[in-house]
Amino acid sequence: MGTKGIEIVGMDVKVLIELLNKALADEWLAYYQYWVGAKIVKGPMRSNVEAELKEHAEEEFKHANMLADRIVQLGGTPILNPKVMGGISNCGYDEPTDPHVMKILEQNIKGEQCAIATYSNMLKKIKFADDPISANMIRKIMEDEVEHEEDLQAIKEDIEMMKKA
Ligand code: FE
Ligand code: FE
Ligand code: MG
Repeated sequence: MGTKGIEIVGMDVKVLIELLNKALADEWLAYYQYWVGAKIVKGPMRSNVEAELKEHAEEEFKHANMLADRIVQLGGTPILNPKVMGGISNCGYDEPTDPHVMKILEQNIKGEQCAIATYSNMLKKIKFADDPISANMIRKIMEDEVEHEEDLQAIKEDIEMMKKA
């Protein structure tokens, strides 16, 4: 925790930390959803889908790291108990009970769309002028989420085209 680094933040730091912790819960749950999805997925283009899910899991894990590091920098505590994550997250957790590729893709696309909307809302609350570091971090994470959505929708489109061929 750096005192000057916190002093320059132009918004309520407690509110800021709360927003970041909620996003941390989202990222942790997204990480697990992708990670376990890659283990169980079945169906057309399984290995492509598996590879993409694994890659996204790693990227969600990186996002969780970025958020946790920023929370600590701001003098906060990252969520200590994973049990509370489901309750405070913005996007929740979509249990992949059906291992079919299409079902898994649809669940994860929904998750990415929620992530994009969540970060977009966060950027309205965390103004660049008030906290350029958090705002810039969120913008970077958002770029990945936009890429994730597109990646998954492209695979889904390919599988649909295979069915028509
Ligand atoms: Fe993410
Ligand atoms: Fe994502
Ligand atoms: Mg990707």
